[in-house]
Order: sequence, then structure tokens, then C-alpha cells
Amino acid sequence: MDLGIAGKSAIVCAASKGLGKGCAMALAREGVAVTINARGAEALEATAGEIRDETGMPVAAVACDVTSEAGRAELLAACPDPDILINNAGGPPAGDFRNFDLADWQAAVNGNMLTPIELIKATVDGMIGRGFGRIVNITSAAVRSPIDELCLSNGARCGLTGFVAGLSRKTVANNVTINNLLPGPFDTDRLRGNIAHRAGAAGISEAEMAAKAAANNPAGRFGTAEEFGAACAFLCSVHTGFITGQQILMDGGAFPGTM
Ligand code: NAP
Repeated sequence: MDLGIAGKSAIVCAASKGLGKGCAMALAREGVAVTINARGAEALEATAGEIRDETGMPVAAVACDVTSEAGRAELLAACPDPDILINNAGGPPAGDFRNFDLADWQAAVNGNMLTPIELIKATVDGMIGRGFGRIVNITSAAVRSPIDELCLSNGARCGLTGFVAGLSRKTVANNVTINNLLPGPFDTDRLRGNIAHRAGAAGISEAEMAAKAAANNPAGRFGTAEEFGAACAFLCSVHTGFITGQQILMDGGAFPGTM
């Protein structure tokens, strides 16, 4: 299927590794000029080079912290009028809520709720004016079904979900859609960090915990960043103007509900 987005531009946040990188690569494969971001310049430049080599598309790389106002300003200066915005940032740390203080909560809310809202605010009116826009927020399966040790993520991401539920109904008439992609377990650095936390708590090795977690998923494995990116690119296509405000869960069937 031709996704119809060749020649469009995209900002993909937090994209030197993992799910963000998967999305950036998938969009570039469709002919989208991507502006990617992460804090670490070395890994970011390496990813930019990889995407250019594979797709032949121009890739701008902006090394900054997307959760800071200055970082977002830098990113928007590099791509002021994106047709596509993929919101993403590192997830908050795992732990018992009794051990988190107000600053931990403020950091989680800033990174996983307010940062995407600020970037939406900066870009959505331009998209409305041009009659095309696709915004995808990378959130988490924790929005659908809370994960014990990820209380910061459970809380902060639901705030973003609530905001998007309202706004996405206001923009769709102008062909600007806003959807959330909810990753379950994907094989990335982030997942390996969470597995290490759970392995420590259970007193077993990381390899054992990873094997157990993969076996417990109905698919018998973790998802890949490439699969995630492909779904994201489809949501950004010209064919999805009637899909907005949705929580699209990619978890190998782990959530056991009928709907
Ligand atoms: P990852 O493999 O650890 O990659 C994270 C990427 O984000 C890296 O490129 C990292 O680069 C960048 N990043 C982190 N903090 C940033 C910041 N403040 N500003 C700019 N870039 C930043 O993680 P992932 O698995 O792709 O996860 C992406 C998101 O999905 C996270 O919020 C995670 O919690 C969520 N999620 C993941 C899973 C999973 O199974 N993988 C499941 C549910 C939810 P730098 O460190 O150099 O900045």
C-alpha cells in the first residue's frame, strides 16, 4: 500500500534508539523527511546516518532534551512546520510509589504529559491550516492496564490520554488526527532495564526473567521496533483521516479483554 506521505516532513522525538528510531526509519522509508532527536549526540548521529543510508532521505538530527523548553525550541527551529509529529520521551523510572517524591512526579508529568502537549500546541494549528496533520503519541500499555512498578508512567500518561481525547475531536474535521500508540513489551533498552528491575526483585537472572516474560506473552515473544514503526507509519498515512483519539494497543494480545 502506498501510504501517500512521500514529501511530507516529520518530527520524531526521542529517536536515536528503540521505538522512536523504529518510527523514524519507517517514515523515512515512505519518503518522509524526518527530524530526529535524542540527548546523546553520538547515537543520534549514528541513527541519522543509518536512516539516510537506507532510505536516501534527508535526516536532520537535533541533540537536545525534549523535556526542556530550550530543547523543544531547538527541535522546532529545525522543523517549524511538521506535517507529522511523533511524541516520545524516555519513560519514568520503576519503583514503589512510597519511594517517589514530588520532584519525581513532576519529572514524570513533565516528560510524559506536558512535553507532548507543548509540542502539539506548537504544531497543530499549522497542520490545521494546511489541511493535513498526523500526531502519534507513544504512550504505554500501562494506560490500558496499570503496571505495578511503573506507577509514575501509569499516572502521567493517563493525563496525556485525557487531553488528547478532547483535542483529537476538534482537529479531525481539518484532517488532523491525534492517536496514541500503546506499546506492550518491545525488545529495546527500556524493556531490558525494566526486566533487570523485576529480575532483581524476584531474585532471578535477567535472562531468566526475559525468557519468562516473553513466554508469558500470547505471541511468545517481545515486539520489535520495526513492527512498531510500521504501525506508526500507517497511522500517519493519508488513509487514516477517520481514525482519531484512539488507543492502539500493540502488546501481542497480552491485554485479556474482549474489547
Ligand atoms: P529506549 O530504547 O530506551 O530509547 C529511548 C530513546 O529516547 C533513546 O533514543 C533516548 O536517547 C531518547 N530519550 C530519552 N529521554 C529523552 C529526552 N529527555 N529527550 C530526548 N530524547 C530522549 O526506549 P523505548 O523502549 O524505545 O521506549 C520509548 C517510550 O516507550 C518510553 O517512554 C517507554 O517508557 C515507552 N514504552 C516502552 C515499552 C517497551 O517495551 N519498550 C513499553 C511501554 C512503554 P538519549 O538517552 O540519548 O536521550
